[in-house]
Amino acid sequence: MVTDNNEKLQDLTVEEKLQNLYELQQIDSEINKIVTLRGELPLEVQDLEDEIAGLSTRIENLKAELEELKKTTVQRNVDIKRAEDSIHKYSEQMQDVRNNRQYDALSKEVEFQNLEIELQKKRIGEAQRFIREKEMLMEEAVKRYDEKNIDLEAKKGELNDIIGETHKEEETLRVKSQKLSAAIDDRLLLAYRRIRDNARNGLGVVTVDRDACGGCFNKIPPQRQLDIRSRKKIIVCEYCGRILIDKYICDYDGSRAQADLEARAESQKRKSRRTKREE
Ligand SMILES: [Zn+2]
Repeated sequence: MVTDNNEKLQDLTVEEKLQNLYELQQIDSEINKIVTLRGELPLEVQDLEDEIAGLSTRIENLKAELEELKKTTVQRNVDIKRAEDSIHKYSEQMQDVRNNRQYDALSKEVEFQNLEIELQKKRIGEAQRFIREKEMLMEEAVKRYDEKNIDLEAKKGELNDIIGETHKEEETLRVKSQKLSAAIDDRLLLAYRRIRDNARNGLGVVTVDRDACGGCFNKIPPQRQLDIRSRKKIIVCEYCGRILIDKYICDYDGSRAQADLEARAESQKRKSRRTKREE
């Protein structure tokens, strides 16, 4: 159970906690490297997919508008035809009228139908103009849609290549990160994650390097360095808030410390030889 586990984790020494945390940091940094390699590609793919979806909607809408315009135009032509038929009929009737009243009534009808035809023709003309405009917009949208789809395929291919290459490695690292996280108590883990989220380089735990914080490179006073090396307390950098550790924290068999010591002794020797020669 989580609580029990956390209680057990509380029993760890500070040194053990710091060791777990540092190992976790190293794994998380490896994961970060892979994520950086993918870079902006996932975002670019997302943006393209969004744009293509938008264009697709636009094309659908234009298509519907064009259909509607064409449908009304057909209807208007039907109306014109009907009006022309009426005029034809009235003209014939005018041949047989018996009085002026009837004649006037019929010629008014003809006049009305002629106005109707004029109006419909005007509307058809307008519709034709709209159709041409919309067809142009449609052409542009389709062209853009095709281009974006080609872009998308390319970016997706690129992304899949990178994911394919690093997928297994990332998976393994994520499992490791989870396991190590489970070995760190909640409070410390939360603090670590919070620092990492706020840090641009993704480092929540850093070593002291040349008397400075390995995260922000500010100098650390000697007494504080001693405290860090004693591994008895969790100490954070007073400038950047990162958790500070000495660089041998995970040097379980002391071999790295030994190698460093030898290297330093060697360089001392070289330096003194040089000084002697110069004398
Ligand atoms: Zn710092």
